[in-house]
Amino acid sequence: MSQLFKRISAAAVLQFLVWGVLLTLALTLPLTKASLDYQYERGMLRSDLQARAFLVGNRISANPQFWRFEEFRLLEALEKDLLPEGRGDRRAVVDDKERTIVETLKRGAVAPPVLRERVDLFENGQLAGYLVIERSMRLLVIEAAVLGGASLLLAVCIAVLLTKLPLRQLRSMEDELAHKAYHDDLTGLLNRDAFRRLLSDAVARAGRERRRLAVLFIDLDRFKSINDSMGHDAGDEALRAVAERLRHCVRANDVLARLSGDEFAIVVDSPTVSAKQLGESVLTRFQQNFEVAGRPWRLGCCIGVAVTPDHGDDPDRLLACADTAMLVAKNSGRSACRVYEESMEESVLRRVNLEDELRGALERNEFRLHYQPLVDLRTGALRGVEALLRWQHPTRGLVSPLEFIPVLESMGLIHAVGQWVLDESCAQLCRWQAQGLLALQVSVNVSPLQFSRQLDFVDAVRGALQRTGLPPAQLQLELTESTLMTDSAQSQRLLNELRHHGVELAIDDFGTGYSSLAYLRSFPVSVLKIDRSFVRDMMSSDANASIVKAIVQMAQGLGLSVTAEGIETAEQLAALKALGCSTGQGFGLGRPAPAEVIEGLLRGAAAQQAGQAPASGPPVAAPAADPVSA
Ligand code: C2E
Ligand code: MG
Ligand code: MG
Repeated sequence: MSQLFKRISAAAVLQFLVWGVLLTLALTLPLTKASLDYQYERGMLRSDLQARAFLVGNRISANPQFWRFEEFRLLEALEKDLLPEGRGDRRAVVDDKERTIVETLKRGAVAPPVLRERVDLFENGQLAGYLVIERSMRLLVIEAAVLGGASLLLAVCIAVLLTKLPLRQLRSMEDELAHKAYHDDLTGLLNRDAFRRLLSDAVARAGRERRRLAVLFIDLDRFKSINDSMGHDAGDEALRAVAERLRHCVRANDVLARLSGDEFAIVVDSPTVSAKQLGESVLTRFQQNFEVAGRPWRLGCCIGVAVTPDHGDDPDRLLACADTAMLVAKNSGRSACRVYEESMEESVLRRVNLEDELRGALERNEFRLHYQPLVDLRTGALRGVEALLRWQHPTRGLVSPLEFIPVLESMGLIHAVGQWVLDESCAQLCRWQAQGLLALQVSVNVSPLQFSRQLDFVDAVRGALQRTGLPPAQLQLELTESTLMTDSAQSQRLLNELRHHGVELAIDDFGTGYSSLAYLRSFPVSVLKIDRSFVRDMMSSDANASIVKAIVQMAQGLGLSVTAEGIETAEQLAALKALGCSTGQGFGLGRPAPAEVIEGLLRGAAAQQAGQAPASGPPVAAPAADPVSA
């Protein structure tokens, strides 16, 4: 992490400047003063020397040859009009043989360092000796040193003050900015920029040291539904909770970041387990509910994993591979993990094409509804139909909802298409009724996303009933267990409201989701639809037979009706009848078929009824196969 902040900060530059300027000033001041003092002393010494040389010169011209013996007069010339600073000087007259003729102090008596000036003396134009003055510079040096020390001390104090107070603030501001630049405000995790840098570094290091590196791309499932149903504050809270949970999934030297919205990523350095196990360990952490807006909330995620060197050694490519694997995991269902494979590129491309083609499919009128009979197992009469969505693709023919409904959900188009399904199925029932055909009940599947937009959904249902005039009791809504359990308190409220309007509620694919049986008592549902996987295997597996039996008995105990899905064989039918299962659905009883086929069935049944003694409902003849391309 610290590698991110390795750069020359403005505070460091400023600190360097402050110290540099102050130390330069601290040294320049005493040095300048010392230099000026020295110049001054030297000037004074020279003028003194000239004055004394004039006096001594006078003595030489006044008494040639013998001036050397006029020691007293020469000494007087050297000491005459002495200024206070000159009292410590050594003044001497030296002849041309380097003999000292007269001197005010002994040689060497002046304390070093010594400033020395001399001037030559002439006798009748001939060099006769010289006059020398030596002055001690010790005081000047001491003064300069004291001044230098004092100004240095002052400079250090000022620099320390400046760096400790404003610069400290500047540095903390800078640190804050750097933190902001590399972190996500909401969760405090690293952001995409920081992640890319660290991933590049980690990939390069792993390449050099021949180590493995795994990148996990994590995308939350149905995060949008939290935002839509509980508001953005709850969405933020959920993201923070996810970040916190992910923090517990990583080791100290792993990198965890929030890439955007509900996307997170982890770099695992030298993983000790397989790529698949890495993803699954994160999925396990998501099994526990999250606390959002004071309520428990089930939140899943899809994970794509890419590993270096297997999937490339370029950081961008690695992240793209993990992203692709995540998309494939997403397409395969919720809470899934996939490790990247090359063949995935094609499947992602197919998905992108599918999205392009689905855009505008509603406006182009490409959706169709097929209806599958729901049969009373005691009488064999048609009780209702389940409306099943199909997409009439321009070139591929009818496409299965299993293929395109998850795509509509991820594109946010499920609300509009779901509304169309509600309107169209209610309208179809009214059309049949208007033709004098039997009043049936229609079951409509509800996507968890439609259900999560609480108020919109109740309005959507009410709107469809009002527009078409279908009595609410003839509409049954099918919801899955996981839809109800995502936010049980809200679900309870919504189901009560729908039930209050007279709409019947069924739990679809019962037994496959995470169900809390306690809720069956409090949710106002009236039908359990046993998932067809149990019915399919009930004749070959005792366990499945026991599950079917238990569900039927439990439903009976709770006063609910049971519909067995996926009845294909006479044996299954007989076994379910024997168990007391009230309603059945399956290819053995009637395949999903267009409205015209069901209409034919209803007409036939009506004619049969008119010719024979009335039964409790029309018998069912299996409609032709439903040619859905998956
Ligand atoms: P589902 O609600 O459980 O619907 C029953 C599915 O089982 C249908 O598949 C039906 O064709 C199939 N099925 C019924 N009997 C048999 C049988 O005997 N054998 C076999 N092998 N299959 C049988 P379909 O039409 O492909 O729909 C699949 C799922 O798509 C539905 O499962 C439902 O969850 C979803 N779906 C369909 N229409 C809609 C819709 O309008 N809205 C939403 N949100 N989901 C829908
Ligand atoms: Mg269904
Ligand atoms: Mg089902």
